[in-house]
Amino acid sequence: MTRAAYRYREYIIGPNLEPDAEPWTFAMKCTTCGEASEPGEEIQDAQEWAETHLKANPDHHHYREHVTRPYRAVPGAWQ
Ligand SMILES: [Zn+2]
Repeated sequence: MTRAAYRYREYIIGPNLEPDAEPWTFAMKCTTCGEASEPGEEIQDAQEWAETHLKANPDHHHYREHVTRPYRAVPGAWQ
């Protein structure tokens, strides 16, 4: 028979706002044809991609923005 004791620790998982966190990235996808911009750190680049795509494809009117944000688990008290 094995005895074991376990202690539990609560964590809070939330956006990582530390200075060394990974950067947010933005990308835009055309939901008409599936083409998408490369992810980048500037939201304006994603929006400009959509404008350029619309000019080249005047009947592509629907887009989806993809935002990637880093999260981290912050340890709380031991139980
Ligand atoms: Zn398209």
